Amino acid sequence: MGSIPKEMEKKKAHAVCIPYPAQGHITPMMKLAKLLRSDYGFHITFVNTHYNHKRLLRSNAISSAVDQLPDFRFESIPDGLPPSDADSDATQDIPSLCDSLWKHALPPFLDLLRKLNRESPPVSCIVSDGAMSFTLDAAKALNIPEVLFWTPSACGVLGYLHYQHLLERGLIPLKDESDITNGFLDTPVDWIPGFNKNMRLKDLPSFLRTTDPSDIMLNCCNREAQRAAMASGIILNTFDELEQPVLEAMAVVGRLPPIFTVGPLNLISRPHGPLASILSSLWKEENGCLEWLDSHAPASVVYVNFGSITVMTKEQLVEFAWGLANCEYEFLWVIRPDLVRGETAVLPLEFLERTKERGLMASWCPQEAVLEHAAVGGFLTHSGWNSTLESISGGVPMLSWPFFAEQQTNCRYACEEWGIGMEIDNDVKREKVERLIRELMGGEKGKQMRNKAMEWKMSAVRATQPGGSSCCNLVRLVKEVLLNT
Ligand code: UDP
Repeated sequence: MGSIPKEMEKKKAHAVCIPYPAQGHITPMMKLAKLLRSDYGFHITFVNTHYNHKRLLRSNAISSAVDQLPDFRFESIPDGLPPSDADSDATQDIPSLCDSLWKHALPPFLDLLRKLNRESPPVSCIVSDGAMSFTLDAAKALNIPEVLFWTPSACGVLGYLHYQHLLERGLIPLKDESDITNGFLDTPVDWIPGFNKNMRLKDLPSFLRTTDPSDIMLNCCNREAQRAAMASGIILNTFDELEQPVLEAMAVVGRLPPIFTVGPLNLISRPHGPLASILSSLWKEENGCLEWLDSHAPASVVYVNFGSITVMTKEQLVEFAWGLANCEYEFLWVIRPDLVRGETAVLPLEFLERTKERGLMASWCPQEAVLEHAAVGGFLTHSGWNSTLESISGGVPMLSWPFFAEQQTNCRYACEEWGIGMEIDNDVKREKVERLIRELMGGEKGKQMRNKAMEWKMSAVRATQPGGSSCCNLVRLVKEVLLNT
């Protein structure tokens, strides 16, 4: 891959990498940080919140690495939330986190940067999550470049960039709660350049589904989109071939700095040695899933996982369970301890009895490896962007039950544009789950989707090989922005 540029030989560059404190942001940032360290020789300081730092130690993701690599360091800052749940493994409330970080995280982050600058090498650039734009003020104070890493898809980001235009057109906030169900969200947004012509209001990131003009997420997403203009560059975890029209439209909207598409990072970042021992899972991975898959025929298993944040009611859980039981396929179902809203997930005994020979359940698994496993034939997913990229990288077609944020946009693109997805209604019913899984695993549509997913996989591999678009963009990002030469 990239060789260490000459400029690096003169001075050791020091990148401070700060992800938004949620799994789907920490993982891609960790991959990028490892690449900067392994391929470009950067000294890395990786900054988590205290809450997540403790969780990464507990899950053994970083415990063996913290003292081993002198030039890959971990630091943490407070998230500003009350410490009541300090030792919990539950996903934190996203609106509260966004609000708290915006209000409280800049001073401790600046203190940390000043402390790091008293050590060697001094901080030379910041790579910050796109949802943590308070860090731009720190970069300005220290007079160093900062790039924002937006971890959603480009189509999702294009949606966020247009929140301001939707506000100006009076389309959001919604006039009435009933607009969520009365068909208003079917309003076409074909006036947004770059989007697939079939896009509707409901396919844009879900935080617009509010009647409250002061809604935290609506305002936070809009603010972060507007502030991106202050950065020296934008990084996206996607590849050009997948999202070309959207990327072209993004380049002209919102006065954005140069955009660098460097994904899928799960394909480009394959570190060896001690760096490989640094992981990023906030939950402890359960052993046995891969061995279980080893004993199954190619493309025979349905993999079910709704990511790190999705929650559902116990009724919805039961509908999925019976859909899986009735479809008769083998399945690997990951049920996070906090998947069911406000309670512990309990599955009907009859379901457990009926599926014990063909279903494996786990609380957290090594998803990337699972999706690369030949036995996996389809993925029932919430369409988080990392999950989508990992599915594409494994050549696995998807059945999507989007939960929130830009998952609705990813789902629409997977179904309408990329030909690798089918959608389940929000109001999930067992008959529908059964029918769609049968189609995904054994139907004509499923076959077409699997072929298409394999094509996208090859395209992703090409982008991330030496000379591929994502590889070249990474080199440009390092030379033109992070080293500022
Ligand atoms: N993940 C995992 N094991 C699991 C569930 C999820 O390793 O059992 C990882 C998954 O591979 C992905 C991330 O957690 O990298 C989830 O990110 P995504 O953007 O898909 O969804 P989010 O959790 O942000 O909703």
